[in-house]
Amino acid sequence: MTLKLERNVKRFYDGLEEGVIYARKCTECGAIEYPPHYACNTCGYHETEWTTISGRGVLKSAILPVSLNANSRLAEIGSYCFGEVALEDDPNCSFNSTIFGVDADNVEDIRAHLPVAVHAKIIQLDGYKTVMFEVDEDALS
Ligand SMILES: [Zn+2]
Repeated sequence: MTLKLERNVKRFYDGLEEGVIYARKCTECGAIEYPPHYACNTCGYHETEWTTISGRGVLKSAILPVSLNANSRLAEIGSYCFGEVALEDDPNCSFNSTIFGVDADNVEDIRAHLPVAVHAKIIQLDGYKTVMFEVDEDALS
């Protein structure tokens, strides 16, 4: 499968091929927009510029997949949940993501320690790479 990309998302996906995660930064207030948006959701300013993010952040919630939203391709990669991530680069920038390293055995422990440290993980899917997150190995220690 080949992904047809608009020019404004091509840079994001090209970055992932090089291991770099691009976001947009508001030229007015400095807020990070991730995934990249061309206007600022914090102050409403219309100009943002390309920046990169560290990929570090915290997980703020953890919901295990159920049969309706389970994804067998993701399960092949590892155990996962869905959750809200806030970026270290801008803690006000939060979004929902797939989070690896969470399963029925540790989800209660993770919930008891929220927010827990996570890092971005560039995942190869069919024909393209995307960004998901993973709980840090020492997040609960
Ligand atoms: Zn702004």
